[in-house]
Amino acid sequence: MGANSVFTQMGGEIMINVTKTYLPPFEEYTSILKRAWEKAWLTNNGELLLELEQKLRTYLEVPHFLFCSNGTIVLQMALKALEISKEVITTPFSYVATTNAILWEGCKPVFVDIREDTLCIDETKIEAAITKDTQAILATHVYGIPCKIEAIERIAAKHNLKVIYDAAHAFGCKYKGKSLLDFGDVSTCSFHATKIFHTAEGGAVITRDKDLHDQLYKFRSFGHIGDDYFGEGINAKNSELHAAMGLAVFPYLSDIMNQRKLITEEYDALLPTFLSKPKSSETSFERNFAYYPVVFESESQLIKTMQALQKSGINARRYFYPSLHNLPQTKFTKSHCPVSESFSKRVLCLPIYPGFHLVNEVVNIVIQSI
Ligand SMILES: *Cc1c(COP(=O)(O)O)cnc(C)c1O
Repeated sequence: MGANSVFTQMGGEIMINVTKTYLPPFEEYTSILKRAWEKAWLTNNGELLLELEQKLRTYLEVPHFLFCSNGTIVLQMALKALEISKEVITTPFSYVATTNAILWEGCKPVFVDIREDTLCIDETKIEAAITKDTQAILATHVYGIPCKIEAIERIAAKHNLKVIYDAAHAFGCKYKGKSLLDFGDVSTCSFHATKIFHTAEGGAVITRDKDLHDQLYKFRSFGHIGDDYFGEGINAKNSELHAAMGLAVFPYLSDIMNQRKLITEEYDALLPTFLSKPKSSETSFERNFAYYPVVFESESQLIKTMQALQKSGINARRYFYPSLHNLPQTKFTKSHCPVSESFSKRVLCLPIYPGFHLVNEVVNIVIQSI
């Protein structure tokens, strides 16, 4: 590597990753954490968790919001709360957690191919996949780009299906003036350390339906409240340590999104135009700039570029690859999703995070290697 590396220190390589966890000033984290210490209260509806939930409810302008342990278990809780046990129409272009949640809940994923512009589920192909066993649609707002929400709502209403959005990428995005987390019967989010807003590990489940919210609230904590036992539950609680991280990161959110926006604009100005990018034609949509995906003309071009970046100590990420209908656990569905298959082979996420200042270098490597 050495000579080519854009970043070396003390003789060793420093890898530049596709993202870097945003860390608030350490003292700001510890001063919030001190409140938990003083009370010796680390979990179970602690003061910090309640404060974080209130802040995020206000920020997102949603009536109900539950902070949970991660962005996967909330998908499982959503399926369970909506009593889904059979077929779920879903996207093959998402993180593996979306599919695994369906399988883990004992349901069958039915993959519907994706749109070429947004890389979200192709709503025009949903109806053909509906059978007598279809109960729900679980779709992902990929890279925070909204699915065709109105069309999906119409199909769901017509066929009496529930809609769950995996909005793990969509924190801070707005659609038609509302948070993108405020759609479907349930939306879920992830606050994993790699996400735009994070609590180290964490997730959330959001619904406008008060009864559903109450059910999810019980699910989160073993299915009981004090001595009142309501039924099955799980442990999806999150701790005061995680809530403290959220409270410490939250004040920096708009700064984080602004810095990412500037990097996005730099990439946009410098990258050759034949590298296409997933995009929305929706006019009433505000992005969060969480990812910078580019689509190559061929997989071999992508691999050449990835290797060239790697030589310079830069890790780009194939996100998402492979297409989820080709996983060992989903092969049995024998799905045909050529668009997802093609894009998953050709999409690469370039590094983007506050403080990243090597856009020029990355772009030069990309241009030289294709
Ligand atoms: C990150 C992610 C998840 C999983 O979230 P965790 O908090 O890591 O469990 C689920 N779906 C999508 C689309 C994601 O990007």
